[in-house]
Amino acid sequence: MDYPIDETDLSNEYALHFEHQCELMKNNFERRRINFHPFQTRAEAAAYINCFIKERNLADIAFSDSVTLHECGIYKAVESEFEKTRNIINPFKRTADGKYIVFADQPLGEKLNLPRDEYYKRMAAVVEGMRKTLISDVLIIGANAITLSGEIVSIDGSGNRVAGMMFGPRHVIVVVGRNKICLNLEAALQRIRNVAAPLNYIRHNMKHHNRYHELPCVMKGKCFDCSSPRSACKKIAIMRGEVEFNADRTHLVIVNEDLGL
Ligand code: SF4
Repeated sequence: MDYPIDETDLSNEYALHFEHQCELMKNNFERRRINFHPFQTRAEAAAYINCFIKERNLADIAFSDSVTLHECGIYKAVESEFEKTRNIINPFKRTADGKYIVFADQPLGEKLNLPRDEYYKRMAAVVEGMRKTLISDVLIIGANAITLSGEIVSIDGSGNRVAGMMFGPRHVIVVVGRNKICLNLEAALQRIRNVAAPLNYIRHNMKHHNRYHELPCVMKGKCFDCSSPRSACKKIAIMRGEVEFNADRTHLVIVNEDLGL
């Protein structure tokens, strides 16, 4: 150990705790036939995903929207490696000011102000893209929480992410950071409702011109189990494992870094 001790560097402590958590989780996920792949860095996780696609020669590669995937550079890594040779389905591509590409002709930096019919018409194209992700060869997604006992838990507004996690794509790669690890299902749902969901609404307000400002969790910092029409907490999914013949379907990639919301 170097002296004097650097009290600000906790990387060794985190690494040891992560190692112990992974020992627990590996058994618990793999007995449920969820393949478990721990990595120390986001770069290693991104490299693993490109190898996964190459090894299985997958043609249709799909994504859901995920801060974690952005932080790991996975959208860019997959695109730069496979853009010319595979079909990449990413319905969540955005303009420089955070709007979906279908709204690229709208004023830069301003909230959308389209008539409702026109808005719905354009959003239908985004939804069509989401539907295509459900029959891909591999769907690459994030998750809101995982448990030490081996479950993956996510909440979804449209449902594309949780639908694809459960059925459709031949393979699913779920990428999470260590901050998503929860003791059990109860803790996972607490995390989702009181941390992930409000932060995600705030992200959409600030980065994507959405109008989630009046949700109770956004205004008051915790979930009030609301039934707001703007709430995207409509679909909560718990992945508890795969059946025997699907043992190569779900792959959990976990990184010893804080990633996503
Ligand atoms: S249920 Fe309502 S209050 Fe709770 S996290 Fe979702 S939007 Fe916020």
